[in-house]
Amino acid sequence: MKVIITKNCMGDRNCNNLCPDVFQYDEDQLKSTVKFDQIPEKYKAVVQRAADECGAKAIEIKE
Ligand code: SF4
Repeated sequence: MKVIITKNCMGDRNCNNLCPDVFQYDEDQLKSTVKFDQIPEKYKAVVQRAADECGAKAIEIKE
């Protein structure tokens, strides 16, 4: 699983709060970023949840 965060991110940090091991907030870009190129198996469920909950639909999952 790969994840990208699009420019639509509105920076509410929901994903960061939900899973700080995967998502971090970039203060320079004013958007969230992903810490991994390939998402580790153990985070897949929470990453899917973050994508589902993202109000800006900015978290795109690529299998
Ligand atoms: S939940 Fe979506 S809009 Fe909010 S910080 Fe994460 S990627 Fe950005």
